[in-house]
This record gives sequence, C-alpha cells and structure tokens, in this order.
Amino acid sequence: MTSTDETSVRGETPARDELPARDELRGKTPYGAPRTHATVRLDVNESPHPLPDWLAGRIAERVGETARGLNRYPDRDAVELREALARHLVRTTGRAVDGTQVWAANGSNEIVQQLLQAFGGPGRTALGFEPSYPVHALAARGTGTRWIAGSRGAGFAIGVPAARAAIAAHRPDVLFVTSPNNPTGTAVPAETVAALYEAAQAAKPCMVVVDEAYAEFSRRPSLVRLTEGRPRLVVTRTMSKAFGAAGLRLGYLAAAPAVVDALRLVRLPYHLSSLTQTVALTLLEHSDVLLAYVDRITGERDRVVRELRAIGYDVTDSDANFVQFGRFEDSRRAWHAFLGHGVLVRDSGVPGRLRACMGTPAENDAFVDAARAVRKERWDAWAR
Ligand code: PMP
Repeated sequence: MTSTDETSVRGETPARDELPARDELRGKTPYGAPRTHATVRLDVNESPHPLPDWLAGRIAERVGETARGLNRYPDRDAVELREALARHLVRTTGRAVDGTQVWAANGSNEIVQQLLQAFGGPGRTALGFEPSYPVHALAARGTGTRWIAGSRGAGFAIGVPAARAAIAAHRPDVLFVTSPNNPTGTAVPAETVAALYEAAQAAKPCMVVVDEAYAEFSRRPSLVRLTEGRPRLVVTRTMSKAFGAAGLRLGYLAAAPAVVDALRLVRLPYHLSSLTQTVALTLLEHSDVLLAYVDRITGERDRVVRELRAIGYDVTDSDANFVQFGRFEDSRRAWHAFLGHGVLVRDSGVPGRLRACMGTPAENDAFVDAARAVRKERWDAWAR
C-alpha cells in the first residue's frame, strides 16, 4: 500500500462517500506526490544527503537515554527545544528572539494547521497567492476556513497592487505568503511582505503567515526580522529541507509571544514526542555540519538552471532547493517522459511546467541528461 491510497483500501472499507464525512471532503483525493518507483527521485524537495554516520550514532545514543523516560509524557511546551530554536534563529537571521517567540510542532504542516485552528475556522477566510504550496488550502479546508486563491503576476511574482486589491475585496483573517515559493522557487521581497502586512491590517486585524520552508537556500535574507514591530506577522520554518531531516517532522515559527500563547490553546496536549524533541535538539547542536550542505545544494541548483537553459528550457529563477522548468504543451506527458528515463519529477499542476528538486551531483546529471533526451525526442511533438 502506498501513501497516496491509504485512505481507500477497496473491498475492506465501505466506499468513503457513503460515510457521513463532512460535505467539503466528498470526492476529494488525499494530498501527496504519486509514489512511483524511479531510479532518481526528485519529487518531494528533500535533501539528497543522508546524515553522517557519526551523527546518526550520536542520535541513537541520545534516543537511548530518552527511551528510559518514555513512561513519562514529554515536555508539553517543548521549552528546551524552543529555546534552542530561538538561539538558532538569532545566529542565522540576526533577529533577537527567545523561546517565548518560537513554537514547534510536527512539521511546518502542523504549524500551519494550528495557525488556522487558532485564527481561521468557520466563518473566516484565508487568502494565498497561487500557484503555491497546496497544504495551506488543504489545512484551510480541514479547519472549515474559506479559502480564496489569489493569483501571482508575471514571473510568478506577487504584484503589490493586485494583491492589495485581493486583500481589500476578501478581507482575509489569515494571509499566506510563501517565500521562496513552492512550486515556482521565487522569493518575495521584504518590502512586498511589509506592504501586504499593512494592507491586510487595513480592514481588520489579520494574521500574515510567511511560509519560509526554503529560506536557507535563498539569496535574500530571512523574513524573520520582519516580525519585529509586527504583532500579527508569523514566519514558519522547518528542519525538513536545509537541515536534511524531513523524516523527523519538526517545524517551527517565529512570532510575537501572544501568537505562541494562542497556539497553546489549540495544540493537542503532548503533540511533540520526547523522541522528536531529543532528536531535534541533537541536530541543532550540530547545525553547522548540516547547514554546510546548503551551499552544495544551491551550487548544484545554479548549475542545473544554467544547463537546462542551455538546452532550451524556460526555467523560473529559483531561491529554493528545486527548479521549475518548461514549457510543455502537456506537462502530464512530459512527466511520464522523464519517468521513462528513470527520473521522477513533480507535476505541481502549473500548466506547462514541471518541478525537480536537487539531488546528488550524479542524480542531477541524470536529470539534465533526461531533460536533454526529452527535448530531443519530443520537442517538436508536444514541447514548446
Ligand atoms: N511549506 C512549504 C512551502 C513546503 O514546500 C513544505 C514541504 N513540501 C512545507 C511547508 C512542509 O514542510 P514540513 O515537512 O515542515 O511539514
């Protein structure tokens, strides 16, 4: 069984739509990339670098120590971890935050869900600029929040006048800004975020959530510094990408202490296991080693962008660990063509484009070779 069909084991459970599930869930499919077998997997924006053996050993020791205390519930407020995350943010973003301004959960996906539980909900509206990370809309649906899909302009940038107009028209309670954006890779300038924050407060108090999952790969400085003096600005981050720890499930945010207080009202008690807290703390102690991979990945990204452009692809400028490229007459067929060459990329639903995250140099070579072959074989027929 794969992760995409786990909710519909045919023959074992009644058809899902015969169950009295909420109306807005009817006919929907679970979120997630198809789990297809491929030699080179570049579909879910992970790090291609396994943890070094010595660090895996250190984690095993620390987990062993924590295991003795598994009879006890974990620290409900993850105080030690939040303080360590705050020190990490001070070191890497220059913004003076402490543990009261940081919250942690099982991936930044859970952070987004908790934000919508606290600030969205029935009768409330969230607005995002698409194409963007679909989990914002998914979490809105899951919390009964009305979702408004705003749009991006030329080059997938957020145009301030159009964004202001969308904000004025929909008066959202929660505004999402993803920077660098997934799936396009485009970063949003700090001035744009500041302008949107002001616009969003004009009608009524609005939470502005900046999703910075890919911040470490960006040429622009982190937007965490914008939280200073903006009590309703939240910046979400993750250890899944630059820390290379997607399997850990650890996301966090920086915001005013009042935001953290609000989230403590909706989080489930003991949401973050003691094992998760221990492993995250251990990784943070060795963040220099882990974050050293970022330069390798961005170096590879810049090389791959150059090579794809030399082949003739239209590549969106990327500040992330992935690239969006095209254009294809039919991106579904193009996705299959890459798979035929053993390379699994992502069809994120942006017409005419596909997305590939950076792998090891050898995997990236295989991807560029596949891109060259796809263009050669099919260009005249269905790529343009
Ligand atoms: N935000 C964005 C923009 C993402 O692309 C992703 C992962 N694909 C996430 C958040 C989720 O990250 P996490 O693993 O921390 O839940």
